[in-house]
Amino acid sequence: MTLSLGIDFGTSGARGVVIDEEGRVLSEMRHYWLVETIDWVKCWREALWSLLGQIPGALRGDIGAIAINGTSSTILLTDGAGEPVDAPLLYNDGRGAMALEQLSQVAPTNHTVLSATSSLAKLLWMQVLPDFAKARYLLHQADWLGFLLHGKLGISDYHNALKLGYDVEKLQYPKWLEQLQIPLQLPQVLAPGTAIGELLPRIAAYFGFKGDCLVVAGTTDSIAAFLASGAKFPGEAVTSLGSTLVLKLLSRHRIEDARYGIYSHRLGNLWLTGGASNTGGAVLKHFFSDVELVRLSGEIDPTQPSELDYYPLLKPGDRFPINDPQLLPRLEPRPDQNKEFLHGLLESMARIETRGYELLQNLGADSLINIYTAGGGATNSTWTAIRQRYLKVPVVSSIHTEAAYGTALLAMGKVQI
Ligand code: ADP
Repeated sequence: MTLSLGIDFGTSGARGVVIDEEGRVLSEMRHYWLVETIDWVKCWREALWSLLGQIPGALRGDIGAIAINGTSSTILLTDGAGEPVDAPLLYNDGRGAMALEQLSQVAPTNHTVLSATSSLAKLLWMQVLPDFAKARYLLHQADWLGFLLHGKLGISDYHNALKLGYDVEKLQYPKWLEQLQIPLQLPQVLAPGTAIGELLPRIAAYFGFKGDCLVVAGTTDSIAAFLASGAKFPGEAVTSLGSTLVLKLLSRHRIEDARYGIYSHRLGNLWLTGGASNTGGAVLKHFFSDVELVRLSGEIDPTQPSELDYYPLLKPGDRFPINDPQLLPRLEPRPDQNKEFLHGLLESMARIETRGYELLQNLGADSLINIYTAGGGATNSTWTAIRQRYLKVPVVSSIHTEAAYGTALLAMGKVQI
């Protein structure tokens, strides 16, 4: 039996999952870090070795392939030996804002790189770093962690490289990028899941992996979470009911619409279209504890529509499915009973979700056929029943929602890319 290992470097920690050929989970590993960590390079290295060390010895020799996902747009510069020359810039670091004016002169209007947190904006900003001259390679977090395992520098995948400006349709860097005259090696970009090389012999020997265990090109955390659901046909979608409301719909057609923050990742011959609203669990959390959410939800009759029409936000502004930076939160009238208030909130979020999928379909995505659900809100059966009433297609809970599981499927070659 050949096993696969998926490793997820997320926002709060790293996780690993070992699966067998049937997709059964044989072992899970975790390594958390402090959000105020200062030395990320040291932290990631320790996390990687810690996860490998946690895999039961009896399984290690059967692992045939390893893949890693990182957080999108977390990047770092390394020298010719792969040693970081400065601290990484994390996914949410906004210092790239300083480079947006320069970038807007060369990048096409509304391109995904035109955001303060895009990898390309960050890279341009990095040129002011005192040690920039020592840098030879720009790598994403997943690329660098993969390098620690296979030893090859300058290799990425087309999920991580999207926000570096890589043209995922033509599978090449676009011509306009040359005008930026970036004085270092941009990564060679492979399809996620492509074999890069065998595990370095010293690592294989140290941990007891087999010598021909392959390390394959990785992906990003949110795509890995999508892959975990098992969705693979056009029209299949994943709604993430986490702090925010994130929709992803698999489609034969690519959709890009910067007005709504909509863009598409390539998934083999298909496109993973999506958008994110600022509504979601963070608003629920503002009003209710998790225990209250469970108790009050149990008292709601989901077959009865709520007349309350809210747009639940914590502060003004949304982009998808309503693009209005000034959009005001609508949380009035507030009924006396908390149960009714929560009913109104859940019902209103279901309407926003429905509108989001309508928008994706109106812009050309394939028609919805079913929706998997992930995130903290996925456990709420009342919400599921309300959503089911609006969405009209089967709404099912994902059996697997962890990014590490999706990345393990990628390592196994179970994902059609
Ligand atoms: P993220 O990773 O985006 O921060 P999670 O997927 O961990 O979010 O989900 C956390 C969110 O789920 C919280 O905002 C919380 O309000 C919401 N949540 C937790 N339990 C429930 C529940 N029973 N019903 C609805 N929402 C819930």
